[in-house]
Amino acid sequence: AAAGGPRYLDGLNPEQREAIEAMDGPVLVLAGAGTGKTRVLTTKIAHLIAQGRARAHEILAVTFTNKAAREMKERVALLAGPVAEGMPWLGTFHAISTKILRRHAELVGLKSSFTILDTDDQIRLMKQVLQAENIDDKRWPARALAFQIDAWKNRGLDPAHVPAGEAGAFANGKGGQLYALYQERLKILNAADFGDLLLECLRLFKENPDVLAQYQSRFRYMLVDEYQDTNIVQYLWLRLLAQGRHNVCCVGDDDQSIYGWRGAEVDNILRFEADFPGAKVIRLERNYRSTGHILAVAASLIAHNEGRLGKTLFTDGELGAKPTVAGVWDSEEEARSVGEEIEQLQRKGHALDEVAILVRASFQMREFEERFITLGLPYRVIGGPRFYERAEIRDALAYLRCAAQPADDLAFERIFNLPKRGLGDATLQLLHDCARRQRIPLMQAAAAMVETEELKPKQRQTLRGLLSDFSRWSSLIDSKPQGELAEMILEESGYTDLWRKDRTAEAAGRLENLKELVRSMEEFPDLGAFLEHISLVMEAAGVDGGPRVSIMTLHAAKGLEFETVFLPGWEEGLFPHQRSLDESGRAGLEEERRLAYVGVTRAKRRAKIYFATNRRIHGLWQTTIPSRFLDELPADHVEVVEAASGAAYGGYAQSRFANMDTYGSSYATPGWQRARRRAEESKHEAQGRGQQGKTYQQNRRGPLQIEGELIAKSST
Ligand code: ATP
Ligand code: MG
Repeated sequence: AAAGGPRYLDGLNPEQREAIEAMDGPVLVLAGAGTGKTRVLTTKIAHLIAQGRARAHEILAVTFTNKAAREMKERVALLAGPVAEGMPWLGTFHAISTKILRRHAELVGLKSSFTILDTDDQIRLMKQVLQAENIDDKRWPARALAFQIDAWKNRGLDPAHVPAGEAGAFANGKGGQLYALYQERLKILNAADFGDLLLECLRLFKENPDVLAQYQSRFRYMLVDEYQDTNIVQYLWLRLLAQGRHNVCCVGDDDQSIYGWRGAEVDNILRFEADFPGAKVIRLERNYRSTGHILAVAASLIAHNEGRLGKTLFTDGELGAKPTVAGVWDSEEEARSVGEEIEQLQRKGHALDEVAILVRASFQMREFEERFITLGLPYRVIGGPRFYERAEIRDALAYLRCAAQPADDLAFERIFNLPKRGLGDATLQLLHDCARRQRIPLMQAAAAMVETEELKPKQRQTLRGLLSDFSRWSSLIDSKPQGELAEMILEESGYTDLWRKDRTAEAAGRLENLKELVRSMEEFPDLGAFLEHISLVMEAAGVDGGPRVSIMTLHAAKGLEFETVFLPGWEEGLFPHQRSLDESGRAGLEEERRLAYVGVTRAKRRAKIYFATNRRIHGLWQTTIPSRFLDELPADHVEVVEAASGAAYGGYAQSRFANMDTYGSSYATPGWQRARRRAEESKHEAQGRGQQGKTYQQNRRGPLQIEGELIAKSST
């Protein structure tokens, strides 16, 4: 430790100390992954309190997630000891803005008890606005407008400031007007949507200089983590508050900006010095998280991006194990292989909570979750529900259950009016009454009701249509492959269309999840077996409370670290994701690469990359092309390996990639490029092999055995 000073500064390097001890004026810590930026922020809060520079509640600290806020609170409490004056204002931009807004709600036309609308409520309200204006919801979907308004709010634009050209894009020039009407409705309901939390707070500050002054003087110090992912409204909010004391300390890494698609502006970090005159810029270059080989891989990968500030990153630690790259046959072998590696680690005494699987798209989680349930490996999904608990998957399952088990009232209730078909709560109530009276299931009650005069003609007709659809679908259960049937049901019921028309950021992911659901069904002998399997999977969810493997998206992994990180699905189209290539071209590709950089740099000691040579899309085998990111890994720092389970399935992947060792490590020509070219050339051949793939799938252990294993595991 450097000479003297408080205990909490022990072991910090000179630059870290400098960042902590620079208490007057703006400070920007610009540094790569794992260099201790978050640690600097946490320590700085403790330091400010210990030095008497501010009392806890005079410090404002912004984190990117609520989880990060909780962790930072705990750390600060640990470093600073019990603090009499309460805790710092520590939370996400949204949480902090909400706290401020509640105190001054009446100044922006709300009551302090205002409710915060979730996306569903938001869309419902938007629909009412469209209806009142006689705008055809089919042609101009409420969701699209909600998405647009959200984007405006992220840019700090209220209805009066929406650029004319953009306002005209929706409903023949009515976009801006509808935005204004929507805001009026929110006020009448005493409600704010998510985007309002910041925008209204900003308005509060702008329109009430006295209130602004109060907070400017209150927050003696402001600290922001993950600064590279702030959007415009957050930036404006921060700049306004910082004009008081100028003591703002932001930390970030331009290479980890991964929320551009949600309006984040990496430019904020580039402009810092211009916006906060006299700013001190501190660079941290020593990485404390990862071993040498891992760091070399991350550095070489990100070097392929053009728009960067460029930073040095080194470690004094050991080189450690080289990150591995393994080719597997398909996603199932990928999950099996990862499962085996984790069991090996477990046998060697490694803790499961030091293991993470980071996926590009949430649909990839399903295969891992099922595998872990089969193995009895405890896991958790971070930043979202488990695959089968996702709303769209539950909806789809409800349709299937209604077709297979018409007495399933809960399922029927769920999809009765989804998508909206004009069957409201009143109708449902009538069905319930009838069902109770006659002690019959809802669907049967519905069948009885459509013959009576109790329902209005319009509803009677709609309900009759729905029932006849269901009886047709039910009659196909024995003759049609269940995957095809599911696709047909989701298509004909209008459910898939609901998401296809949806233009929110999550819609595309939901459609992918639905496809993955259909795909997964094909592995079962029939619909009944599949549904039974689902009940088991749901049952097994969330049992014991011990350490668990974490599964999450790369986006959710920001700021976290694990001993071992698995990175599956490095294939063209999946990672980099086709959507971001299509929508944002070169910029999209660079954001994908930053995501890869975030992924690799989460690993402390082991990074394990996978790619599958086949993915089944729409029930058809398709040969994939290994991700271009694999080409960009430095040969001297990666090891090309056999998948752990390769031998057991003695398959195609093994023979095909057997010689990768040679060119993987010698790299006379970039090996992956050759592999990719070969993959492209052999596309036809591989599609032929798809036939074999079927047999291979059919030979797979069915759900019954999965049940057997589950029971075996839980009884030991
Ligand atoms: P990211 O960009 O991924 O958010 P970061 O820059 O915020 O990373 P931290 O998470 O703060 O990095 O630190 C990475 C790891 O290094 C943590 O485990 C942290 O405790 C450790 N670390 C940071 N500074 C030091 C130090 N001076 N000595 C020892 N360990 C350190
Ligand atoms: Mg961090």
